[in-house]
Amino acid sequence: METAPTHWVIDVNRAVLGQNARRAEENRQRFTEAGLLVLNLVSSPGSGKTALLERTLVDLRDRIRIGVHVGDLQTDNDARRLSGKGAPVVQIVTGGTCHLEAGMVAQALDKFDLDALDVLVIENVGNLVCTASYDLGEHLRVVLLSVTEGEDKPLKYPVIFRNADVVLITKTDIAAAVEVDMVVLRENVKRAAPRAVVLEVSGRSGAGMQAWYDHLLTAWKSRSRVRKEVEL
Ligand code: MG
Ligand code: ZN
Repeated sequence: METAPTHWVIDVNRAVLGQNARRAEENRQRFTEAGLLVLNLVSSPGSGKTALLERTLVDLRDRIRIGVHVGDLQTDNDARRLSGKGAPVVQIVTGGTCHLEAGMVAQALDKFDLDALDVLVIENVGNLVCTASYDLGEHLRVVLLSVTEGEDKPLKYPVIFRNADVVLITKTDIAAAVEVDMVVLRENVKRAAPRAVVLEVSGRSGAGMQAWYDHLLTAWKSRSRVRKEVEL
């Protein structure tokens, strides 16, 4: 009997993920040496990643230097939305691959002047499933969940939420209109993402954005302390 094909598939996945983990570690090393804080922004399509970034780039323009690496399946619409906000933007079109991998990020890094940045935000492809399996070398995994997605979404995608450092509940300005039960939604987020900082924001109205900025700035300051220790 030949070996069962399922075993072969599992081995391939392991090899791919093993290679990804090594590259992610190399990325992380590079980020640390450059004193960068790196975020991996993950969500379903249409949860407001680009809208959140548009506002963040403008509001923090005078405080920290942010670069953006955008991954998209097919178009460069998001990169065009984000350009002209004072931040360098590097787009990667994955050509159908539904997640970013550490090697793709490594290639994009060569296009940035990392020493001229404080924070690098990686806007991942809209997808809550396989993005959970690919470490990109980031320091913080930020999962966005919009109020339009239903209260039980965190329970349906446990892996991505379990490993989240921050969960941003987005589009809170339309929570009443979509009749979401915010109490249940918050409970489900807490259950699925027990170690995450949970913040509620609206990129449109600006509500809650200050708490997000404070979190970002605090995380960045603690990274730059790490950098100084590395240099010593
Ligand atoms: Mg987007
Ligand atoms: Zn994928």
